[in-house]
Amino acid sequence: MDDLTPRQILDRLVSFPTVSTTSNLALVDWLEGWLTAKGARCFRHWNEDRQKAALIAHAGPWEPGAVVLSGHSDVVPVAGQPWTSDPWTVTERDGRLYGRGTCDMKGFVALAAWAVGRAARGGTRRPLQLALSYDEEIGCTGAPPMIAAMQGLVPKGSAAIIGEPSGMKIITGHKGGTGFHVHVKGYEVHSSLLPDGVSAVMEGARLIQWVNDENARLQAAAPSPLAATFHPPFTTLHIGQIHGGTANNITAADCRFSLEMRVIPDEDIEARAAAFAARAQALDAALKAKRPEAGVTLDRFFAVPALMPEPGGEAEALVRALTGDNATGVVSYGTEAGQFQEAGYSAAICGPGDIAQAHQPDEYLELSEFQAGQRLMENLLSSCA
Ligand SMILES: [Zn+2]
Repeated sequence: MDDLTPRQILDRLVSFPTVSTTSNLALVDWLEGWLTAKGARCFRHWNEDRQKAALIAHAGPWEPGAVVLSGHSDVVPVAGQPWTSDPWTVTERDGRLYGRGTCDMKGFVALAAWAVGRAARGGTRRPLQLALSYDEEIGCTGAPPMIAAMQGLVPKGSAAIIGEPSGMKIITGHKGGTGFHVHVKGYEVHSSLLPDGVSAVMEGARLIQWVNDENARLQAAAPSPLAATFHPPFTTLHIGQIHGGTANNITAADCRFSLEMRVIPDEDIEARAAAFAARAQALDAALKAKRPEAGVTLDRFFAVPALMPEPGGEAEALVRALTGDNATGVVSYGTEAGQFQEAGYSAAICGPGDIAQAHQPDEYLELSEFQAGQRLMENLLSSCA
């Protein structure tokens, strides 16, 4: 099969509109075919309805200790965004590669696939693996089953580079996260009879005030040394959406809002989640005591482990050697890196592009970043040769 350049691979990857709500199988079919032709051993891990698959590729000796290059195949939607050119065609202008996913994160995936293809064809001393997930953009839900499946499919890798856009700088830590969809159920009466009903809106506000109080408490506390490296240097709780009520003079039957928490790595995410759940449960009991129909239900819609910095860790040392970047950096958004670390890999983040470009209309990747990414891959191939 053709010896494609990273740019040609990127063109192909971007041409598949792999928005998280749709199948990614056309992309996986193509990439699996190309990597297999190069001599890589490829495996799929299917999702439940078999509309999506993670792709795992192994190049080099069939033994543990691979460098794992990790990316996600899905992208965020383009609907309603003003795009200057077709989002599903890579368009080069002014030294930039425009297209949905060029930055987040098909640019890195193209480079990683290119490197694995080279390693498979040319032979290598240390194995290289590509781990391409789905459903990252809807809460990093695709990586955990993929990582679990990898344990039975390929020899265990040791260092994972997660290529989220970081301007080719090394990121050694990120916050963890979790979130709840909250549904407060009230009891409708005319508002003149307020004490006979339950206003879901007004009761929901009690939970929201608890969130505000928690934020104030977390912000006021002295940060741990690790927390001090983050911006902001504390765990945050945020409610981005709220819906409820039907009329000014009816106690609201329903109030729904969503809470997300971004938690410092040395804090216990489960304890934070449990604290909120306990508060919600107390309100649920209070409401049911008034009206059995009323209450609070929680739906925990995501949970992503933090990436804990590993001073002197293998992935960090590897990325430093490959990029020459000796700074340390942490970020407040979640990635699949914490999930690899939780599964026993040394993990660090380094990828081309600026995270500010992710999810934007006219998303682009600077050509210079893509080229820097290719240099990282060339250095990696040399170090594994
Ligand atoms: Zn991403």
